[in-house]
Amino acid sequence: MKQYKGSCHCGSVTYEISTDVEFGAVCDCSICKRKGALMGFAEPENFNLLTGEESLSLYQFNSNVAKHYFCSKCGIYTHHYKRSDGKIGFNTGCIEGFDKEDLSEIKQVPGSTFSVVD
Ligand SMILES: [Zn+2]
Repeated sequence: MKQYKGSCHCGSVTYEISTDVEFGAVCDCSICKRKGALMGFAEPENFNLLTGEESLSLYQFNSNVAKHYFCSKCGIYTHHYKRSDGKIGFNTGCIEGFDKEDLSEIKQVPGSTFSVVD
């Protein structure tokens, strides 16, 4: 697997991820369309937070299952735990040297059509 290093904008939050990113994803759900991030995915055990735990803020909404993390200093979305399959999603824009041209595919996830909790 490939090793990726990621960081938020201010550098407080840093992490390493081991995964083979075969595709990127852009989602149109209520939070993703606001973030506008191109996401990659990994198994949670292959995500290693190096620094900045104290800077990370957790945001949850709707079913309150997914965990959306962002840096409380610079506001950048770094990663999240998905509701559907327990995988971790991460902001490819945070990854050092990440080139989206290397992706075989960018999937459009129709998150806005997923069930919402009343
Ligand atoms: Zn930051």
